[in-house]
Amino acid sequence: MYDAEKRPHLLIVDDSAFNISILGEALVGDYDLTVAKSGEEALEALKSDHLPDLILLDIIMPGMDGFAVLHHIKEMETTKDIPVIFITAMTGEEEEAQGLAMGAVDYITKPFSTPIVKARVRTHVQLKRKSDMLQRLSDMDALTGIPNRRRFDEAYEKEWRRSLREGSPVSVIMIDIDYFKKYNDNYGHGEGDVCLRTVAHTLRGCLNRSMDFVARYGGEEFIVLLPATEAAGAAIMAETMRKAIVAKQLPHAYSECADYVSISLGVATVIPVMGLERDELVKSADEMLYKAKDAGRNRVERTVLG
Ligand code: GH3
Ligand code: MG
Ligand code: MG
Repeated sequence: MYDAEKRPHLLIVDDSAFNISILGEALVGDYDLTVAKSGEEALEALKSDHLPDLILLDIIMPGMDGFAVLHHIKEMETTKDIPVIFITAMTGEEEEAQGLAMGAVDYITKPFSTPIVKARVRTHVQLKRKSDMLQRLSDMDALTGIPNRRRFDEAYEKEWRRSLREGSPVSVIMIDIDYFKKYNDNYGHGEGDVCLRTVAHTLRGCLNRSMDFVARYGGEEFIVLLPATEAAGAAIMAETMRKAIVAKQLPHAYSECADYVSISLGVATVIPVMGLERDELVKSADEMLYKAKDAGRNRVERTVLG
């Protein structure tokens, strides 16, 4: 995804060293460039973590041609949104129509004019940047800056399918702030918002694996997704989070269970199997959360399904 701090990154795919050097010369001043001399090489480059913001793709190449490369790009979840511009010696209307119909954003014929290539690349990189920004905003909770429920649902669905394939455990932790209504009523809604932000960031700070994930689930509810994590590991994580929130020592004089803001947590773990609804895991975590509330709050309750 586009990072405003970084120079945009382009992938140039062309079998001719001459074309690569002309394009490279025109663009190297403004972009980080990766070069692939064949379709196969391009697809290999697209397996890396450092994905380009835009791809300049030749059509006629020995081996895999540009249409086939574009087809693969559009098939892959990680690359399907990267804009592709065809740069080609094929000047036929039909090829151009085919390229655009397959999802290329633009089509430039050779010999090309350098200023026109530069201008079109700039336009499409800017568009990509805007659509990435919109994507990021729609995934994010505006108050706390952590992922929202929509983003969680998406990640959870993906993780569930992966665990089902691999037979690995998934854990979910449902979290709710204790006596938060009293906090709002006594300290004001503004302070309540500040508290929500602090809790969100503290929870996020407890995660240490890149696949772990915390989202704001509702008003003062958070949910944690722990892929490939067994019950014991999830319980340790939940207890770490509970302690981290109390250790923040956010005064809560109206709480009936602690002097400071505290949370209750429900943990559920399962190895997904066919026929088990994925909602069951979240529902169980929610039941454990209510058990923690009933048992006096500021504590963890857990269960293993199956
Ligand atoms: P319990 O310990 O049983 O969880 O009690 P509680 O008071 O936390 O539970 P309840 O669900 O009754 O209250 C939740 C409160 O969270 C009510 C609402 O005012 C507050 N809240 C929800 N969303 C926001 C928000 O975005 N900002 C602020 N400041 N408060 C919020
Ligand atoms: Mg609540
Ligand atoms: Mg609450």
